[in-house]
Amino acid sequence: MKLKKLTDQNLDSNLKELVAGEREILAEIILHIIEVETRKLYLKLGFASLFEYLTQHIGYANGSAQRRIDAARLAMVVPKVVGDLESGDLNLSQVSLLQKSIRAVQSESKTKVDQKTKEDLVNLLSNKSFAESEILVSQVLDITPAEVTKITNQKDESVRLQVTLSKSQWEKLLKMRELLSNSMPSGISNWDQVLEYAADKIIKLKDKSQGKQKSENQNQNLKPHHTSEPSSSKARQHIPISIRRQVFQRDQCCQYLNKTTGKKCESKWHLHIDHIQPLWADGSNELENLRILCAGHNQQVYRWQANINNHS
Ligand SMILES: [Zn+2]
Repeated sequence: MKLKKLTDQNLDSNLKELVAGEREILAEIILHIIEVETRKLYLKLGFASLFEYLTQHIGYANGSAQRRIDAARLAMVVPKVVGDLESGDLNLSQVSLLQKSIRAVQSESKTKVDQKTKEDLVNLLSNKSFAESEILVSQVLDITPAEVTKITNQKDESVRLQVTLSKSQWEKLLKMRELLSNSMPSGISNWDQVLEYAADKIIKLKDKSQGKQKSENQNQNLKPHHTSEPSSSKARQHIPISIRRQVFQRDQCCQYLNKTTGKKCESKWHLHIDHIQPLWADGSNELENLRILCAGHNQQVYRWQANINNHS
């Protein structure tokens, strides 16, 4: 093979050249993604979001898609990002870190990080390592290490749990996941499955050691769920991909009608599929029962349906 005959020096310089070419293509890809975003092309093609379009249609893995979206969004505010990615002064991991931190700060403080700060950060991260970047971003955005455990109840009764772990606690969890993924035939990799499996084990163990037989009902809960079929209610919540596509292709924007003006919202931001007749009220996953709503109207409609009073 030709490569085998290359001198060390040529091998090294060839690789450098290839990588420079790769960065050039990356910059070009980011510009294309910006254009797709600007035209909202993904909606025309039947995808809910840029992320779905890049993963399901273009074929990027989730992480790769998210990093490129982060780069595109940042570049829309700070255009020099594209050039920095091309020259290699900045890489995708740094950009992603930056965007993730900005999002966190914005949702925490409910204030926007301004363009000037973003520009400063982009300049500051130039040619820095990832670890250095992490520290710089935390300092500039004044991010204090999160220590509180946060539990958020979500509308389908699932729970979002955020926990901060020490290095050694985290390493223990990683070890546990590694052991489980090696020993399970189906392979466990998601944290919800790992935690459920561990919980099942401990509950079973405690149950046995107490020598008590619990009621039939409770025993059922001890069966591990991770290998079984999704429960019927979960299956019902899942809208088939082909139907999702059709809904997005048909609606393309928020279908909410203003009660007084009769005008359609038509927002194209953060679109969700809404069940006109809710699932819990025996609504179906049929095309006719589905529509697109923006995040705000989705929540508003949900509040009405669930008859939750707004206390504020
Ligand atoms: Zn709307």
